[in-house]
Amino acid sequence: MTPDTVQAVLMTAPGAPLELRRLPAPRPRQGGAVLETVASEVCGTDVHLHHGRLPGVPYPIIPGHVSVGRVLETNGPLADVEGGAIATGTLVTFYDVYGTCGACWHCLVARAATRCPHRRVYGITAPASDGLLGGWAERIEILPGVRLVPLPDGLSTEDFLGGGCGLPTGFHAVERAGVAMGDTVVVQGSGPVGLNAAIFAQLSGALRVFVVGSPRARLEAARRLGAEDTLDIGEVPNLESRVQWVRDRTSGRGADVVIEASGNPAALPEGLEMLRDAGRYVVVGQYTDGGDVLVNPHRHVNRRHATVLGCWGYEFSHLHRALAMMRRHDARFRWRELVTREYALADAGQALREMESLSVVKALIRPQPGC
Ligand SMILES: [Zn+2]
Ligand SMILES: [Zn+2]
Repeated sequence: MTPDTVQAVLMTAPGAPLELRRLPAPRPRQGGAVLETVASEVCGTDVHLHHGRLPGVPYPIIPGHVSVGRVLETNGPLADVEGGAIATGTLVTFYDVYGTCGACWHCLVARAATRCPHRRVYGITAPASDGLLGGWAERIEILPGVRLVPLPDGLSTEDFLGGGCGLPTGFHAVERAGVAMGDTVVVQGSGPVGLNAAIFAQLSGALRVFVVGSPRARLEAARRLGAEDTLDIGEVPNLESRVQWVRDRTSGRGADVVIEASGNPAALPEGLEMLRDAGRYVVVGQYTDGGDVLVNPHRHVNRRHATVLGCWGYEFSHLHRALAMMRRHDARFRWRELVTREYALADAGQALREMESLSVVKALIRPQPGC
């Protein structure tokens, strides 16, 4: 029985308290589907959204970009990327992007689909007026063309959301960095993106991974996930000492690859100091505009012969391959242990506060307890 209305959390404007509302239950459009939400992640992006730190967000929105649900209803046959039929009742996630046009200069000439100006992301740039396009709700509307991804056998909702959006984002950053067998990698930042980058760096053949971040619980997670050593920036507030810490572990040269996943602009010049000559630096953590920093073009980039790369969003390919890697390597990395709390819809505001205080690594919204 489909109810007439369902509960959803609305973020109406930056700084405004979240509102729990009843909205009309969605029906699938031709070629689309409706999911019964099992769980949706809470991540740093949601905190940024609540502070209004992202430009162009069409408030009010329903937060929750990476989610898992059961297919409740479809309108026409749906298939996964290998052509397998997706029946009602299947446990799925989905590539949380719609609107990418495949026809513009960015899509066709630059082949940079994550920079397509028409691209919209569930829970971030999807206005609530367009439907239930966020996971902090009892139902999620899957628009025609949005790619459903059945969770592989053996992976649960909690396994997948323990990685959350950090899983494909960290995967993309490591791919972008071109981590090679035998590399020494420094990851700046110990949030979900940094932790997943540390995982995928190892799976790409890195010999050693070091994580620079805070707080202690996240660094403990980094060591459990295989980081050889970690540096707590709360205990070593001095930049020169942190750079020296990396040099002490790399014969004085610096790391082959440094991945910035911290979100702090000051990490950039620091990370470049941690990089060896002819090393590769990838910036993936600066998702919002945190301001300007000073970089020395001669010392940091030109003389260092550095390769410096940005990394924006992720494509379907990253989600697909990251999930396949999770399935293969879950016994080793146990992503679900990164989930430290679950919240009901009514407690979404508390979830944001606890995410902001970094007292949780990964948190879930579970709209229907027991679902
Ligand atoms: Zn386009
Ligand atoms: Zn996220």
